[in-house]
Amino acid sequence: MNIRLAFISMLALTLATAARADDADENAGPCASLVPASAGGPVPHDNDRVLLRFLGTSNYELAYKGQVILLDAYYDRGPRTRAIGLMPDQVKRANAIFLGHGHFDHMSDAVSIARRLGIQVVGGPPTYTELLREGLSSSQAVSVTGLGGEVFQFRGFKVEAVLAHHSVLSGPSLGDFHKAIADEIGNPTPEQAAAEAAILARGTFSPDVITKGTIAYVVTFDSGFRVAYVDSAGPVTPTMTAFMKSIGHTDVAIVAYQGHFVQETQIPPTLALIKVFNPRYFLPAHHDEIAGTFLDLGLEPLALTLREQMPAVKPISLLYRSAACFSVHSGKQLQSDD
Ligand SMILES: [Zn+2]
Repeated sequence: MNIRLAFISMLALTLATAARADDADENAGPCASLVPASAGGPVPHDNDRVLLRFLGTSNYELAYKGQVILLDAYYDRGPRTRAIGLMPDQVKRANAIFLGHGHFDHMSDAVSIARRLGIQVVGGPPTYTELLREGLSSSQAVSVTGLGGEVFQFRGFKVEAVLAHHSVLSGPSLGDFHKAIADEIGNPTPEQAAAEAAILARGTFSPDVITKGTIAYVVTFDSGFRVAYVDSAGPVTPTMTAFMKSIGHTDVAIVAYQGHFVQETQIPPTLALIKVFNPRYFLPAHHDEIAGTFLDLGLEPLALTLREQMPAVKPISLLYRSAACFSVHSGKQLQSDD
């Protein structure tokens, strides 16, 4: 076989495989599908099933009873960072966006999506200021303090804002780490750097992000099933402790696992957050690479620590665009779409 023929048959094989994957996906139910509900994929409509889909960094979508909620919105991560398989212009369905905080790697695509879909975006005070600066109307931007009484009602569930704290980064060593990463993977080309700078500009570095602008969201279904979400692994706040004291436990906790570059210093703050949320299932967030800034952080040491210290908590690590579904009545993970 000459080289050209080999190439063509290889291409044909690739296309055939891709077509098969698409076919399988088309027939898949919402939990097995790799097409996000927010990108036009299947959405659970029954009263029992809630879907949580990992969309890279701290992005998750929550789908329930035909509604879709986006948690963070940072899909175009630039040319050097691994593609999620979802770009902002593919998002065509969402009822609201909840932003954990206003750094670019949590909100850079929120304004374009919200404007196109005409939906509201919820965030802490510095996030709100940034949403307006980026041109979102004040009717679509919603500011929360997380200090109590901020409740967003949907069909069959509500979302409450709870003041959290941003991760406390490793001080001067952060710059050293970034230099070490650059030494390993090289510096961006001017074109790559320009694309990354444009994404970085759609976020805020206000110092208020750390103590006033990082918001956890607790989703409570009519059945009592609860999902907690926090997109930065900072210290547990008194507000979170008081809130959790009033509800006792959650069923699923989505917690950030990033900020430090080694597991020795990253596990304690993430573990403390998992402990305060007291869930049955833990879903990690923010553990994947952002080229030049964060490395992929292995999850096994955290999972081992969980097994030792909180053996009742089951970690579920999802690949990009994969989903986990749960019964809001039994509280258990559902293994299929049946
Ligand atoms: Zn941040």
